[in-house]
Amino acid sequence: MADATFKILRFDPDSGKGPYFQAFRVPLENKGLTVLDGLNHILENIDGSLAFRSSCRAAVCGSCAMHINGKHRLACNTQVSSLNTQSITIRPLAHLEVEKDLCVNMDQFWEKYELVRPYLVPGSPPPEKERIQSQEDREELNVVIDCIQCGCCYSACPVTLSSKEYLGPAALLKIDRFVSDSRDGAHVQRIEQADGPYGVWRCHNVFACQCCPKELDPPRSIAHVKRRLMRRRLLGGGK
Ligand code: SF4
Repeated sequence: MADATFKILRFDPDSGKGPYFQAFRVPLENKGLTVLDGLNHILENIDGSLAFRSSCRAAVCGSCAMHINGKHRLACNTQVSSLNTQSITIRPLAHLEVEKDLCVNMDQFWEKYELVRPYLVPGSPPPEKERIQSQEDREELNVVIDCIQCGCCYSACPVTLSSKEYLGPAALLKIDRFVSDSRDGAHVQRIEQADGPYGVWRCHNVFACQCCPKELDPPRSIAHVKRRLMRRRLLGGGK
């Protein structure tokens, strides 16, 4: 049975030592072995002090986002065989404080997320049954609805590094998601927030956030919101 080499960037702020790479041999037990399986193998059989997050194992919770062989990916749905090499280099998400090894502090990501009210704000009293949406209106959301809050786009963005207040790609995508929702009643407030000093105009169009493991397109959403704002300026008011 062949082995893969997992080269992992390790760091424990409490140890007094700087970050360093450590290599581990992981047996390629089956063709479908994922990077998360490999990390679990190391944790259970080689080094119980290795720190990383995971939960659902199904690309739904976003907790195992990390930097794998030069790309932002989810460890749970990245098969070692898909990387076309048996040498795997793993780092934590960039721009975020490392708590230990592959675990980063996501507080600043969640703070931005919370600021944009990532939930439906109805513009009318509750209906008797449900808020009806036409099939066409629902289809508008298909390209913005699958965010799992993994933080990959936020970590890839160079502006989130230089401007701690910048809302960042995931929060701006969420604004786009709700201004595209026919049931939401806070379109104007949302679009005005995106127009603020830490909104869409801070984006430098680097496109680094185009790395979403769920194949969402934050640059498209940011451009979409910018277009709405320009239309609003030209035509006055509205969303
Ligand atoms: Fe992750 Fe994609 Fe959501 Fe960004 S948009 S947080 S990369 S799922």
